[in-house]
Amino acid sequence: MIEQQIKSAIRDIPDFPKPGIIFKDITPILKDPGLCGDIVDAFVREVKGIRIDAVAGVESRGFLFGLNLAQKLGVPFVPVRKAGKLPHTVKQKVYELEYGTATIELHTDAFKAGDHILIHDDLLATGGTVAATSELIQEMGGKVAGFTFVVGLGFLNGHERIEPINNKVIVLAK
Ligand code: 5GP
Repeated sequence: MIEQQIKSAIRDIPDFPKPGIIFKDITPILKDPGLCGDIVDAFVREVKGIRIDAVAGVESRGFLFGLNLAQKLGVPFVPVRKAGKLPHTVKQKVYELEYGTATIELHTDAFKAGDHILIHDDLLATGGTVAATSELIQEMGGKVAGFTFVVGLGFLNGHERIEPINNKVIVLAK
């Protein structure tokens, strides 16, 4: 099963990036091309029947599978980046972190008003990043088609935060 394969591949890194945090390192997955392909295929199966006009991948690990997923779905990929990284005209969203704030940006021509955008990231923790991404997409006239994640940290209840935005929340390894 894909869930078990993902769980076996990822490794826990204690005290990264800060003391007390156990970081889920997904890089071992990337060394297994078969598993990478299976992950993208699983997402494609799960989103079947949903209107998707583009996939928005969140910097930076959301780019890893987001682009492949978009290509398999035959739709554009749009990068959601941290402030100051995108070269063309951008719209930004500032959002709250546990300590301080963060800013994400999208190119203003990333998609058309009315487009349905699937949001993708490698991991769902509190849901703060993808909630901010949803708000930015909606402020730009887009609709959120759903969310896909390779891994979810269930104990942080990210689901509860994002299900009200769109209840199509796909997490391959919970
Ligand atoms: P959230 O906004 O849901 O609290 O945090 C999710 C974001 O932080 C994602 O962009 C994800 O890449 C990153 N992140 C937080 N914790 C981890 C972790 O343990 N492993 C990985 N791979 N990413 C994490």
